Amino acid sequence: METILKKIDMSCLSSGDLREAAEFIRQGKLVAFPTETVYGLGGNAYDSTASARIYAAKGRPSDNPLIVHISEFSEIEPLVKEVPDVARALADRFWPGPLTMILEKSERIPKETTGGLDTVAIRMPSHPIANMLIKEAGVPIAAPSANASGRPSTTKAEHVIEDLSGRIDMIIDGGSSDIGLESTIVDLTVNPALILRPGYITIEMLREVIPDIEYDKAVLKRMKDDTIVAKAPGMKYRHYAPKGELTIYEGDMSRVSQAIRASAEEMLKAGHTVGILTSDELLGSYEDLRAINLKEKTGTLYIKDIGSRDNEAEIAAGLFDALRYFDEVKAEYIYAESFTEGGIGQAIMNRLMKAAGYHIVTV
Ligand code: AMP
Ligand code: MG
Repeated sequence: METILKKIDMSCLSSGDLREAAEFIRQGKLVAFPTETVYGLGGNAYDSTASARIYAAKGRPSDNPLIVHISEFSEIEPLVKEVPDVARALADRFWPGPLTMILEKSERIPKETTGGLDTVAIRMPSHPIANMLIKEAGVPIAAPSANASGRPSTTKAEHVIEDLSGRIDMIIDGGSSDIGLESTIVDLTVNPALILRPGYITIEMLREVIPDIEYDKAVLKRMKDDTIVAKAPGMKYRHYAPKGELTIYEGDMSRVSQAIRASAEEMLKAGHTVGILTSDELLGSYEDLRAINLKEKTGTLYIKDIGSRDNEAEIAAGLFDALRYFDEVKAEYIYAESFTEGGIGQAIMNRLMKAAGYHIVTV
């Protein structure tokens, strides 16, 4: 299949730019598009065939439901049995934005879109391309992250091309996603409401609207534990994983950098390709490892700095790109420092721990 690449100049975005993409959606075709969280792989949410195509293009297990995207609040009505007050309150506060709500679904939404569930996940993205595409299409757009299943989510059109070119009808290039992590998912079908996936909208922010909201147990787990089953079906799969073996080091930061140095040095001397995912703060402590690289005939070292520990938003925005970078350079062993679990750090650590298959070393 030929995949059309459509580059958009964000400084003069007009609905005409998205006319063909919207037409594609109405015809049941698949269009990848940017959102403020990550790129989405969109299809008509009312069309069970389009949903089936999304699963096929991603290689996604068909019990892993899709998020349905809308462009204004009134579009929620046909999708759900009823709109609880709490959904209105959350929407007032956080929509459009990186928050997904789980509600009882209406008959209108086919089971293919919801992975067989009676509930539906709904989000109103704030990205102007996403918003305009949904409006132009005139139907809600079902869209999971636009990556091949199991790989890190995509935050740039280049990532989408890498994973899905030839498998979908169009990729809209609108530059990099600002947030870089998938939406926070909140289940409103249970009482108290539960956070199924942490994201940019933090528990502290949500508690201003729902004081008793909690994390689903699976969100807080720190090890492979098959007795804790994720309520968001997608959260149970191996996810975000780079091809190399990723290990996270946690503890006092100077000990962390020492431990990472030691492991990296050992693997380099054994001739391996090694990646280090670092913050600005620890970057300096790895510089002389590069010298080992040059002096001796050893493996190759790739260091990726994803920003300052003081700027979690920057770390979040660069995380998936960094994981993909290590695949590109074929890193066999990857070492990462841990980040503080709280605020956006909760979401960063959630993705990083999954990427590492919960391989965390405390030093
Ligand atoms: P993605 O869009 O690729 O980030 O994947 C969507 C995520 O939302 C997956 O983790 C799904 O399991 C989750 N999700 C979608 N619909 C539901 C639902 N009805 N109930 C629980 N989780 C859902
Ligand atoms: Mg995904």
